[in-house]
Amino acid sequence: MKMRTRIIIGAVGAVAAAVLTLLVISAGLEESRAAAARSAAMTTALEEYFELSTLTTEYLVYHEPRAERQWMSKHRALGESLYALVPAQPSDAAVIDRIRANHAEAVGLFARIADTHARIDADPDVVREAEDRLTARLLITMQTLVSDATLLGRHAADAALEAQARSLMTSAAMAMGAIALLLAISVWSLTEYLRPLARLQAAVHAVGRGDLDARSGVMRSDELGELAVAFDRMVGELQESYEMLRDEVHERRMAEAALQEYRDHLEALVDERTEELLRVNEDLVTATRAKDDFLTAMSHELRTPLNSIIGFTEILLQRLPGDLNNEQARQLTMVRDSGKQLLALIDDVLDIARINAGRISIAPAEFSLRNAVDRVVEMMYPMADAKDLSLTVTYAEGAPDAIVSDRGKVDQILLNLLANAVTYTDRGSISVSVRPDGVDRFAVDVADTGLGIAREDLERIFEQFYRAHHDLAATHPGTGLGLPVSRRLAEALGGSLSVVSEVAKGSTFTVVLPVDGAHPAPDREPVESGE
Ligand code: ADP
Repeated sequence: MKMRTRIIIGAVGAVAAAVLTLLVISAGLEESRAAAARSAAMTTALEEYFELSTLTTEYLVYHEPRAERQWMSKHRALGESLYALVPAQPSDAAVIDRIRANHAEAVGLFARIADTHARIDADPDVVREAEDRLTARLLITMQTLVSDATLLGRHAADAALEAQARSLMTSAAMAMGAIALLLAISVWSLTEYLRPLARLQAAVHAVGRGDLDARSGVMRSDELGELAVAFDRMVGELQESYEMLRDEVHERRMAEAALQEYRDHLEALVDERTEELLRVNEDLVTATRAKDDFLTAMSHELRTPLNSIIGFTEILLQRLPGDLNNEQARQLTMVRDSGKQLLALIDDVLDIARINAGRISIAPAEFSLRNAVDRVVEMMYPMADAKDLSLTVTYAEGAPDAIVSDRGKVDQILLNLLANAVTYTDRGSISVSVRPDGVDRFAVDVADTGLGIAREDLERIFEQFYRAHHDLAATHPGTGLGLPVSRRLAEALGGSLSVVSEVAKGSTFTVVLPVDGAHPAPDREPVESGE
């Protein structure tokens, strides 16, 4: 049952008890008022009897007609009030009947006395005797009346007292009953609500202390029950969330522990691998050094006989030792070209070995850039002519002339770029342009209208031994070392080498160098001297 319904029922019960109590009290009061009225009526009747007795005596003594009239009227009035009497208790009914009979008899006796008295012709002794007899009977009747009236009066007074006492007792009993009822309802309500409230409070305290297993367990159909059910449900959900969280934290801790273990292991592994790598690196450095030393030595050893072969072949071709037939001249030319090609390859290998070993020697000196460029271009004219390519040089305004750099290295870079331009261009032109680049740098662009380079090869052509046009290997001999060597040389001189190209349209290689290359650039690799 809902609390509101209980409160309404309680209130209605209390109001009903109060109304009932009031009704009972007012009934009691009414009863005691009726009893008091009866008692008052009897007192009045009694007083009137005494008055009547007085009047009777008065009449009997003086025989005045006024007293007779008064007696009769008083008697009539008394008779009326007698008929209005109500018995206070059952036995009073007989008394009232007797009073009424005596009253009627008294009236009769009084009338006969008056009658006797009025008889003037009669013998006075007979009249007196009759009068005395009637008077005696009247007095006895009157006395009986008075004593009956007194009895009724006493009964009425007792009844009034009893009614009052009863009314008081009933009121007190009703009040006590109402109080007891209210007390019982209050105690019942309190125990009804206090017990579950205490359980709910205990559960709240337990949850507050962290005991999420605690539940109030209150099962009721009212608001308190709803509150308890909602609380228990809430604690249940809280417990579920807490358990999920605890599991998650546990899992996370496990994962962290595993991670830590892995990290520790990883650190050890990294240390181990690093040591291994350092060892391998040392071995590699030693091996590379040995290889470079070997290459340098071998190249040197190869160059000497190769130069002799080329030199003697040249002498034979110049026909200094004697004449040659055409076939001999053709084959000797092949020997000389192959020898030169081999020498170029050895030079490239030697260069790359030196560069890799960090053994490039830079010897900066002041020279004329224009002279250097012109000379290299001149050297390339025969090759360009042979392929019917135009070869031009331009100097932009502000292009420096006197520069400080390693001329040999600058020549080598320009020769490489021009040789490639001629090699990979079948028709069109090759142009060399010198221009300033910023305040203290200059750039040399070597542009051709040749095969061009695919986008994906643009950076790879600077890798060692990489060749972009594999399909042309037979007709365009090369090593794939020219560009990597050139780039490393340009960097060693404090500059850079880059390219822009489009397939079938041509390429432009740009070398940028400092005007004053006496001081190495900050990002330049340390350079060792000596070969
Ligand atoms: P290679 O001896 O093969 O010329 P390089 O290192 O000088 O070696 O050049 C690498 C590759 O770059 C060449 O094989 C060629 O495919 C490409 N290449 C270089 N210069 C040019 C150019 N001017 N035009 C087109 N391709 C070029």
